[in-house]
Amino acid sequence: MYIPRLHPDTIEEVKQRADIYDVVSEHIVLRKRGKDYVGLCPFHSEKSPSFTVSQTKQMYHCFGCQTGGNVIKFLMDLEKRSFSEVVLDLARRYQVSVTTLEPEQRQELQRQLSLREQLYEVLATAERFYQHALKHSADNALQYLQSQRQLREETIQMFGIGYAPAGWETLYRYLVEDKRYPVQLVEKAGLIKPRKEAGGYYDVFRDRIMIPIHDVLGRVIAFGGRSLGDEQPKYLNSPETEVFIKGKTLFALDKAKAAISQSDSAVVVEGYFDAIALHAVGITNVVASLGTALSLEQVRQVLRYTESKQLILNFDADKAGNIAAERAIGEIADLAYKGEVQLKILNIPDGKDADEYLHAHQPEDYRQLLTNAPLWLNWQIQRIIQDRDLKQATDFQQVSQQLVKLMKNITNNDTRNYYVSYCAEILSLGDARLISLRVENLLTQIAPERGSREKSYQTPLAKTKSDHLSSAPTNKRSLLEQAEALLLWIYLHFPEQRQAITEALEERDLQFSLSHHRFLWQQILEIPSGGIDDNLISTVQDKCVESEEEMALVLHLFHLNEKIKQETLRTPQVIQAAIACMERVLREKRYRHFLELWETTDPEAEPQQWQSYYEAFYNEKMQLQELDRLRLFSITDLL
Ligand SMILES: [Zn+2]
Repeated sequence: MYIPRLHPDTIEEVKQRADIYDVVSEHIVLRKRGKDYVGLCPFHSEKSPSFTVSQTKQMYHCFGCQTGGNVIKFLMDLEKRSFSEVVLDLARRYQVSVTTLEPEQRQELQRQLSLREQLYEVLATAERFYQHALKHSADNALQYLQSQRQLREETIQMFGIGYAPAGWETLYRYLVEDKRYPVQLVEKAGLIKPRKEAGGYYDVFRDRIMIPIHDVLGRVIAFGGRSLGDEQPKYLNSPETEVFIKGKTLFALDKAKAAISQSDSAVVVEGYFDAIALHAVGITNVVASLGTALSLEQVRQVLRYTESKQLILNFDADKAGNIAAERAIGEIADLAYKGEVQLKILNIPDGKDADEYLHAHQPEDYRQLLTNAPLWLNWQIQRIIQDRDLKQATDFQQVSQQLVKLMKNITNNDTRNYYVSYCAEILSLGDARLISLRVENLLTQIAPERGSREKSYQTPLAKTKSDHLSSAPTNKRSLLEQAEALLLWIYLHFPEQRQAITEALEERDLQFSLSHHRFLWQQILEIPSGGIDDNLISTVQDKCVESEEEMALVLHLFHLNEKIKQETLRTPQVIQAAIACMERVLREKRYRHFLELWETTDPEAEPQQWQSYYEAFYNEKMQLQELDRLRLFSITDLL
C-alpha cells in the first residue's frame, strides 16, 4: 500500500515505545540468558540458538548470520515489509499518533489505517452473526456438526464455528441495514458481492457451515464455508482481501503455536475439519493449509515455533501419488533436500483423512502414526521400490535410475552420503558383499554433476601461484566485510579510538569497499563533531532517517555485543588487524596485477620490464606476508 512519508517524530516515538522483546517473542521462542534473551534465528537455519535480543539496548543480533538491528528492522526482514509499513503497524499497536510530513496526506493515511481496522471489525461482527445463526436458527447445521463431524459444543465454540443462513441477503441486511456498515467496506471484507444485472448486493456465503480463519494474533481475517449437502463447491473460501492472503495464512496457527513450540514439531493437515478434529482430541500442534500447496512463507511461519524444524505432512492417502505429494510439498522440497527442515510424511491407512480416522480410532493411534511417520526421503524411496522385483533386470535398472535421480536432488552432503549407503543396501538384496560395490556404483552415477560443480568452484584457487594467498573468494569477501564492519563498530562505540582509526585509514589511503560501509563512513565524516560526539550513533541515525535501505544494512553496527566488549582491552590490536585485512585486499590486487604482467611479458624481448614486474610482484608478496603477521589473531574468531 502507498504510505506518505512519516514524520521523524513518529518514527522516534515508535522506537521508544515498541519493545523489542514483546515483538520478537511473538514470532520466536526466546529464553532468558544473562540479562539478554536467546532463541533460534528466524533468518537462517540453525540448531542451537545464536539469535540474541537485548531489551536494555532494544536491539537484536544473530551471531550465526550476522543480521541485527532494532525492532523495525526485525519486522522488515521477517515480514518482508517496507520501513513505513512496519512503523505504521507498530504505531497502531503502541498507540503512537501518526504524523506525516505533508499534512494533506494525513487523511489518506488514516483512511488506509482505519480500513484495516474496520475490516477486522466487520469480519468479527460477521463471525458473531454466524455463531448466533448457528445456535438459534439452524438445526440442520448443528446436526451436521454434531452427528456427521462429531463435534462437541466446546469445540464448536473454541473454533468460533457458525452458520451462514440460506437467504441471499441475510448478512447484507444485518451488516449494512441494521449495523450501518458502509456497503463498500462489507464488500472489501469479501462478505458480499454486487449483483451483475439487477443492482444491489448478495451474500457470498449462503447455507454453509462457517469456519472463521484467524491470523496468528487471533483476529478473524476470512472464512471457510462448507456446504451442508452436496452443493458445489464443497468448500468456499473468502476471496483475498487487504487482510487475507492465502499463501501467507495457516488455519489454526493461532491455537497451535504454543503446542508446536512445546512439542517441538508441527503437523500440517489438509482440511479445516482435520485440524479441528485433532485439536478436539487434544492433539493441538496441528495447522491446516488452505487447500493450496505449502508456500515457503507458510512453512517459515510454522517452523519459527520449533527448534528441531520437524514438520509432519498429513495428506490424504487416496491422492498421495507422487504428483499429489509434490504438489502438497510445494516449495518446501528444496528446504528438505538441503536438510533445513525435517520433513516427514504421514499417510493414514485406508485412504482416510484425519477427521475420518478419528471417528473409528483413538487419539493414541493417531499419535502412533505421527511417531512412525517416515522421513520424506525414505517415503520416496519406499514408493520407488514398492511393487518392484529387484531380481528382474528391468525393474532393477529402473529402480536404481530413479534412486540416483532422487539422490542427485539432495544437496546436503551428510544426508546424501547416508542415503547412498541406505540405497546401496536395498540394491544389494541382502547380500552384504555387494554393498560396497553398489555404493561405488551409485556414487559414480551421482558424481558427474557434483564433480563439475566442484571443479568450477576450484578454478580461481587452482590459478593461484602461491599457496598462502589462496582462499575462496567468498571467504575473502566476508572476511573483508567483517574487518570493515569491525572498524566501523569500534569507531561508533569507542570514541577514544576514533583518531587512531581515521589516521590509519588516511595513512594507507584505504577505502571501505562495501557500499553500505562506504555510505556509513561518509555519514560519519559529514558530522562536524563526529570524532568526539558521545552520541554519535543517534546523531547518525537521525541524519539518515530517510536512507532506509542503506541503514538497514548497517543497523547491526549500532549494537554493541558482549564478545566485542570483552575485546575492549585489545582494541589497538583489533584495529591493527582489521586495517591489515583491508590493506591486504588492496595489496593482493596489486600482487595479481604485477604477476600477470610479469607472466605475459617476454623476458628476452623486454628484459627490463620483465625484471621490474618481477620486483614489483615480489615486493607485494613480501608485504602480504607482513600483513598476515599483523593479523595476529583471527578476526573471524572475534566476530
Ligand atoms: Zn541468523
